[in-house]
Amino acid sequence: MGRGWLNRQAPDARRRTDMRDYFRNIYLTIKTILIGMRITLRYCFARTITVQYPDVAPTIQPRWRGFHYYEIEKCIACDLCAKACPVDCIYIEKTGARKVDKQTGLAMGGAITRYAIDYSKCMFCALCTEPCPTGCIHMGNNYDLSGYDRASMVVEFTELAKQGLQTPMPIWMQKRHLPEWAQQMKEQWLERARPMREEMLLALTERKPAPKPAEKPADKAADKPAAEVVPDKVATATKPAAEKAASE
Ligand code: SF4
Ligand code: SF4
Repeated sequence: MGRGWLNRQAPDARRRTDMRDYFRNIYLTIKTILIGMRITLRYCFARTITVQYPDVAPTIQPRWRGFHYYEIEKCIACDLCAKACPVDCIYIEKTGARKVDKQTGLAMGGAITRYAIDYSKCMFCALCTEPCPTGCIHMGNNYDLSGYDRASMVVEFTELAKQGLQTPMPIWMQKRHLPEWAQQMKEQWLERARPMREEMLLALTERKPAPKPAEKPADKAADKPAAEVVPDKVATATKPAAEKAASE
C-alpha cells in the first residue's frame, strides 16, 4: 500500500507546492517593486516647485560636486588624477618635469601645455581629487556648462588660466547685466584666482627654481678650517729656509 499510495499522493503535493511558490513569487515581486518605488511615488504626488533659473539661484547642498576648479600654479603634472579617473577624461601635457619649490610652495620646471577635462564623459565622482599630492584639483560649485556642440564640453583649463579663471564659466554669465546672485558667484570665482594670476601665467611657461645665492669668497675662507688656510702660506714662506737647512 505504502509506496503506491505515496506515488499517487506525491504529484498532487508537488503541484500544490508549485502553486504556492508561484503566488508567493507574484506577491514578493509586487511588494519589492512597491518598496523600491515608494520614494518615486512620493515625489510623483508632491507639489511641483519651479525655480525661475537663472533669475533665481537654485539651492546647492554643501557637498555638491560641480565642475572642477584647478590651481595650475600648484600642479606638478604628475598624472595621478588622470590615472585615478575611471573614464579617462583628463588630458595632461607638459614640456618637462615639475616639482614644488619649497620656498614658495608653487610648482616649477617644465610648462603645462594642456590640462583639459572632457565633461561629456565626466561622472563627477571626485576620484581625481583624492590622489593629488599638491591639492590643486577640487570639485567646484558650478553646475552650469552649456555649449553648442560636443567639443565645447572639453574644458581647457590652460586656456582658462590665460583668462585668470580656475573654473569654467557658463556662457550666459559673460553678459554684462546679471542677476545679483550670479554676479556674486562670478565675483567669487574671479576673486579666488586674482592673487595667483601672475603665477598661473608663469605655469604655462618653463621656469627653473631660483638658484641659491652664491657664497662670498671671504665667507668661504672664513668657513675653511685654519689648517687648510694657513699651511699654504707657511709652506711657501718656510720653503727656502727648509731647502737651505737641507743643503747644509
Ligand atoms: S594629481 Fe594634482 S598635481 Fe598631479 S597632475 Fe593632477 S592636478 Fe596636477
Ligand atoms: S570627477 Fe571622476 S570622472 Fe570626472 S574627471 Fe574626476 S575622476 Fe574623472
